[in-house]
Amino acid sequence: MTDFIDARTLPAATLLEPDIAIIGGGPAGISLALALANTKLKIVLLESGSMNFDPKIQKMYSGGESGVRYTALDAGRLRFLGGSSNHWGGYCRPLDETDFVARDWVPHSGWPITRKALEPYFQKAQALCEAGPWIYDKGGEAQDAPLLPLGKGGLYTSWFQFSKTRDSVLPTYFGHRYEQDLKAAGNVTPYVHANVTGIRLNKDGKTVERLDIATLTGNHFTIKPRMVVLAAGAMENARLLLASNDVMPAGVGNQNDLVGRFFADHPIPRDVATMVVFGGALAACYGSNVSLANGAIMRAALSPTAAFLKAKNVAGSLTTVEYAIELDDTGKAAVITTAIALGVDASNAKAYSLGCGMEPAPDPDRRLRLTGEKDVLGLPRLTLEMRIADSDFTLYRQTLVELGRQLLASKAGMLRLNYRHRDEWMKGMDWGNHHLGTTRMSNDPKQGVVDADCLVHGVSNLYVAGSSVFPTYGSSNPTLNLIALTLRLGDHLKKVMA
Ligand SMILES: Cc1cc2nc3c(=O)[nH]c(=O)nc-3n(C[C@H](O)[C@H](O)[C@H](O)COP(=O)(O)OP(=O)(O)OC[C@H]3O[C@@H](n4cnc5c(N)ncnc54)[C@H](O)[C@@H]3O)c2cc1C
Repeated sequence: MTDFIDARTLPAATLLEPDIAIIGGGPAGISLALALANTKLKIVLLESGSMNFDPKIQKMYSGGESGVRYTALDAGRLRFLGGSSNHWGGYCRPLDETDFVARDWVPHSGWPITRKALEPYFQKAQALCEAGPWIYDKGGEAQDAPLLPLGKGGLYTSWFQFSKTRDSVLPTYFGHRYEQDLKAAGNVTPYVHANVTGIRLNKDGKTVERLDIATLTGNHFTIKPRMVVLAAGAMENARLLLASNDVMPAGVGNQNDLVGRFFADHPIPRDVATMVVFGGALAACYGSNVSLANGAIMRAALSPTAAFLKAKNVAGSLTTVEYAIELDDTGKAAVITTAIALGVDASNAKAYSLGCGMEPAPDPDRRLRLTGEKDVLGLPRLTLEMRIADSDFTLYRQTLVELGRQLLASKAGMLRLNYRHRDEWMKGMDWGNHHLGTTRMSNDPKQGVVDADCLVHGVSNLYVAGSSVFPTYGSSNPTLNLIALTLRLGDHLKKVMA
């Protein structure tokens, strides 16, 4: 067993020379360390925090926000081992095939890899998330109540699975869950209280020569690794690259002014529509998580088909049933008259409020930048310009219109759309805290910061892990997918370092 090393106790001017240095011990960094465990490679995992929340460490995450209302930068993520998995919701869902494809109606869309590249890694990622057996495509068969009969059309019932709730109600916290596994890996040495403050390139700017590390107690040390993997979360990945500007004045990997741009998160507008189901209460799996005997925890959502996205030029979305509501008199009258017109019995009709997780369109001006203000270790703080386009809402509205059409066509129910104008959508809207897109992937250095292997363009030994590399976002929650991508990176590193 290798105990974690507290960087505050290291002798001054310590120099470490591992094969790989992983910056950040969140789901990405931990998954990569575990994927490389018990190989011949000497790995150091550098984590800013330790096992639990510390407000002094968390404060290094604070920054500014402008534009539309958004979670404060030090509230939507956590800076200690396990990262933001210490307060995630445990929702898992693989990206769809269509999420990887360039869509001519979505500018800047498309990955340089297909979903097939991640498929060999999904099961392992699912296991790391402790999300039970992989049955996303069989969710319907697993339920003991009938699904909403939507008939043919643009939307179908698809499935979330959940990180296992252990003992009480908590999904997998990667730091606590994998502490012993990290200690048991003889070739992995995790350092806690180790803040990376600079990624230093050699003079020609093509190789990382060293990492500067500092502790809050004033200790400084240096790491000279053969390879570096930046896994500090999508905001901090951009910050470290931009702030490391001693050799490349625009920052590492930022020769084309892309680092920090295309930031995204999933908008979660609430109460977007009222859905009435004529036949009585919906199966429980629509409104809440259902635990199955095989260990899977599932919840249904309404998802657009690839054909519908293409035909209507809309973006991805996952519409969810949130809670049952009582209709007012006008609503009740509309249900009765519609039921008469359709020739169905609506005496048991039930009404529900719908919510949604939307895929936003990529936007180069939704971006993170450095400010003149610095944190306690001298690293410039970030500011986020947050934006959402009117078209993000109007396109999603078309998906709801299709849901309403399908409900009527199948005589299963009806839908009232609640919003038309931007300020209505924005009222009470939440965000997923899914930080995406600041070091996007493309084989063209003018379009992306990393290539299809997650290697930073122009730097021979610097990789990025995490959802900062997602060039388009889909509507699925990111963690399962970013872990799969990180496991793929693990295999790549084993190959190139053999
Ligand atoms: C409230 C909330 C709910 C969420 N719910 C879900 C959900 O249901 N499903 C889902 O898929 N996703 C969810 N997410 C998102 C999920 O938490 C992230 O996708 C995931 O944690 C990202 O993993 P990561 O390792 O890339 O980054 P992080 O989790 O951000 O980890 C980064 C790590 O790097 C460390 N670090 C940062 N800077 C430095 C530095 N300079 N030096 C050394 N170490 C550093 C941090 O301390 C941290 O441990 C949620 C997030 C939040 C905030």
